[in-house]
Amino acid sequence: MSYKLLDGKDLAARMKKDMLKEVEELTKAGIFPGLAVVIVGNDPASRIYVNSKKRDCEEVGIKSFEYSLPEQTSEEELLGLIDALNQDPAVDGILVQLPLPKHLDEAKVIRRINSEKDVDAFHPYNVGELMIGRPVFAPCTPAGVMELIKDAGLDVAGKNCVVVGRSNIVGKPMAMLMLHDNATVTICHSKTKDLKAVCKEADILIAAIGRANYITADYVKEGAIVIDVGMNRNSEGKVTGDVDFPAICEKASAITPVPGGVGPMTRAMLLKNTIKACNMHKNYGLS
Ligand code: NDP
Repeated sequence: MSYKLLDGKDLAARMKKDMLKEVEELTKAGIFPGLAVVIVGNDPASRIYVNSKKRDCEEVGIKSFEYSLPEQTSEEELLGLIDALNQDPAVDGILVQLPLPKHLDEAKVIRRINSEKDVDAFHPYNVGELMIGRPVFAPCTPAGVMELIKDAGLDVAGKNCVVVGRSNIVGKPMAMLMLHDNATVTICHSKTKDLKAVCKEADILIAAIGRANYITADYVKEGAIVIDVGMNRNSEGKVTGDVDFPAICEKASAITPVPGGVGPMTRAMLLKNTIKACNMHKNYGLS
């Protein structure tokens, strides 16, 4: 079967071109979108993510402000910084890179971010708005998946969608966005019985597990759309997804590659949310 490659790298590049134009217009009007990125500690993967977010901001003309705090930063200090960023009119979006060191309470830190600057959409207010179908900010990874699907001219309405993974940042919001677009959604997890049989019923299968090549071709229905959110490193340090790409290509009608699929879309959606936050603040005078 010939399949359509859902090329996130290409779509993200097109989105960035449009965003660059939008930011140029804002800048001409004296408005400068700004994203504050807070990183605590020395986790190498987090460092890589933060650097790439800074580069992305530069590409589209968003100002980025990096706050690199030492591993032993106290909760009080971190919350103090967030309070200051909440008040700072130059900052439209605040992103705290997760995971935080163990002694810091992630839930408490996220709650402290002004929900109107919560461009990751992890604050309970934004989670609630998503649940009731009126997201102010959609969480970046699932929103990026929806953009990829739509850009390919595919429609989720009435389709049987199976999401494998129920995390707060990927699986659950993914299911909710699909549901709002009228898909019939099943959410699976590590306790799901006969995962293979459930996945085989999927018209759209979304893998957000975090296990390299876990979804093999026998989990996939002929002609299914397969979205691979997973980002795992194999023994040679190469990034691989949760699905067995070469084998599943033979069965799927559309599939995302890893890398170059969902990852670039996540990053593009962060920029989109930051510009949205900036427009919101400009229009409603938040800052
Ligand atoms: P979590 O570890 O928070 O969640 C993983 C989910 O997978 C859990 O719900 C877990 O079930 C489920 N799971 C684990 N093993 C199995 C199994 N054998 N069968 C069925 N379900 C299973 O991960 P995240 O949601 O944060 O991330 C998932 C993957 O996506 C990771 O590889 C991550 O790196 C990647 N990712 C990629 C992004 C991108 O931009 N491309 C962005 C964010 C994440 P249970 O709840 O029962 O434990």
